[in-house]
Amino acid sequence: MSSAFTSKQHPLKLEAQFGGVCLPGLSLWLDPQRQAPEDSHVFVSHAHSDHIARHKRFIATTATALFLKTRLRTTFVPEQFDFFVPRSFNAGSCSFRITPLPAGHVLGSAMALLETDAGRLLYTGDFKLKPCPIAEHCDFSPAKHCDVLIMETTYGLPQYVFPPEDEVHAQIASFCKETLAANATPVLLASSLGKSQKLILGLARFGLPIMVHNTIHALNKIYQQMGFALPHCEVFDPDQLRGKVLICPPTAARRIAALCTTELRLAVASGWALDPRYRFRLGVHAGFPLSNHADYSELVRLVECLEPRLIVTLHGFATEFARTLRAAGWNAQTLSVPEQLDLPLRISAN
Ligand SMILES: [Zn+2]
Repeated sequence: MSSAFTSKQHPLKLEAQFGGVCLPGLSLWLDPQRQAPEDSHVFVSHAHSDHIARHKRFIATTATALFLKTRLRTTFVPEQFDFFVPRSFNAGSCSFRITPLPAGHVLGSAMALLETDAGRLLYTGDFKLKPCPIAEHCDFSPAKHCDVLIMETTYGLPQYVFPPEDEVHAQIASFCKETLAANATPVLLASSLGKSQKLILGLARFGLPIMVHNTIHALNKIYQQMGFALPHCEVFDPDQLRGKVLICPPTAARRIAALCTTELRLAVASGWALDPRYRFRLGVHAGFPLSNHADYSELVRLVECLEPRLIVTLHGFATEFARTLRAAGWNAQTLSVPEQLDLPLRISAN
């Protein structure tokens, strides 16, 4: 890896590694799902399970570090930093800067603006442009006209445009009220970080009493610690569940069902629920298209606002979205696993 710096200039490479992205020329890893080499720099954009690993050292916002401590129950030394405040790093004879920008996905979620002597890159991680009540408002403006945009494209097909969230919350509330009226318990399946808190805020407006799984309760406490007010929610107790709405992560649904004596009606909150077949595949009563990800229109808007020289797409419909961008005249490529891309940028030794 260090041999990359023996000549005066070298192409800046981008690799798909460990489920994340690696820039070996900078010894920098972005969201790897396995432990990166100890002497490298690791940026964790947010605390969802498909972006984290048990790193001993990493760079993250304060909220992300707190979530990780709770979720992984491990000891580590995060290099915490604040939004919009750049931090300098060295890799061999090269130096670069990282500025975290709010990604609007969950509390603490960050994009990484990388500034190297070869150019400026923006790595988005998961993001959402529309205001989200459970995350800092996305602000990518410092990355305008970056050289390279490395972006997630989970919902990169035109049919994935989400309806207004107020409408979706009203539909979810109706489902819950009808289920309670039938003397059953509505169980909303949602990721414990971000989606659950969004549901709590949405349902509270309809006056519905809420109970949450204990993993959600632990993350709610961090939201409150970070200054985000959330309505009171009881912690899951099967003996006290009747007449309440239960929110739990999908992975806990089976165990919850085994503990409950009331009839349960399950619903899932996910952007994939735009496809009516989704709920049938999961075997649940209802599906609601609520997402903390950018939908197709937001993905396009990010590209149009930033006007980058090159767009690299990752995750979801990455190939299809890159093709769409190329058809619209953009320079776009997909980074798949395992793959390596020479960026049109050259870094030079100091
Ligand atoms: Zn995420």
